[in-house]
Amino acid sequence: MTAATTVRDLIDRLEEDRELSLEQWERVFKEWTEEDRLYAAEKARRTALENFGNKIYIRGIVEFSNICKNDCLYCGIRASNKEVSRYRLTEEEILQCCDEGYGYGFRTFVLQSGEDRYFTAEILAGIVRKIKAAHPDCAVTLSVGELGYDEYKLLKEAGADRYLLRHETADKEHYGRLHPPQMSWEHRMRCLEQLMELGYQVGAGIMVGSPYQTERCLAEDMVFLGSFKPHMIGIGPFLPHKDTPFKDMPKGPYELTLFLLSLCRLMLPRVLLPATTALGTIRPNGREQGVLCGANVIMPNLSPTAVRKKYMLYDNKICTGDESAQCRSCLERRMAAIGYEVAITRGDHHDKICDIR
Ligand code: SAH
Repeated sequence: MTAATTVRDLIDRLEEDRELSLEQWERVFKEWTEEDRLYAAEKARRTALENFGNKIYIRGIVEFSNICKNDCLYCGIRASNKEVSRYRLTEEEILQCCDEGYGYGFRTFVLQSGEDRYFTAEILAGIVRKIKAAHPDCAVTLSVGELGYDEYKLLKEAGADRYLLRHETADKEHYGRLHPPQMSWEHRMRCLEQLMELGYQVGAGIMVGSPYQTERCLAEDMVFLGSFKPHMIGIGPFLPHKDTPFKDMPKGPYELTLFLLSLCRLMLPRVLLPATTALGTIRPNGREQGVLCGANVIMPNLSPTAVRKKYMLYDNKICTGDESAQCRSCLERRMAAIGYEVAITRGDHHDKICDIR
């Protein structure tokens, strides 16, 4: 590599080889300009169009409990936040949300919660079985944090198709600054390996601009994602929550978040890449811009309106006052306005990732 190599050259190389070295990534994150970002966005958008057309996959999220035993320093529903009014949906309520969502064309349901000990793997497995029995044409995605291998196995056998567990940061030391000492980076990474081994479609991911994140951290994240090859990548800006130790930390940069979406699309062309709620929170048209930068998934809220304001991971989260029906039609309009269409499909990842890992 000659000294004259520019970030633009590195973006070309990424598009061609689908990988960069740790040092190359670090240079990209230290030296990129808005022009480079737009260059990557254009390529990423084209790559998404080649792989998915103008179709956007939707997933309905049911935030079924905000009770959490963990104490992640960034998160609004952390255990030591005493200001949160805690709730737990009943099995019937969860199933109702899915039934309602089915009517709106959702064919994937994402069950997300804090790490609530009440919902043991057995109880969750029962819920997954009921959703799959009621809607055999739908995928169920779980996002309930760190469990043991046997628990993940039980849930897979119950019919869960996918699992979202952001790695949060590929840098062990950085992980230690975002989490209490009881939580370990090794354990989180082990969970991700186990989920992959069990045959889930797996989602990893990060918050962009989380406190203490450096260009080196982001470079490590890209190298990790490039080798782990998750089926899904969740990327949104870090947003502070007023009742957490990070309340005075700055928001993650919007443009950098878009840039990372584009880089992920170029590295893993078929990855399922949501334009996240956090991206829509930091800018009114953030999710549309995410799609135009290479994202191909949107995950609207299906939680009952009565609990939405209680699942506040960060301040000012959008769509907390709306009915699911409103969210669904709003989304349709937003996508149509930029020339995209919501697809009524499970929207699975179709590469046999394991064969090429
Ligand atoms: N308990 C589950 C779900 C966590 S919430 C788990 O541990 O996986 C889902 C994601 O929201 C987290 O992985 C984190 O990346 C993101 N998140 C949490 N707090 C946030 C904040 N303040 N700003 C932006 N994203 C946040």
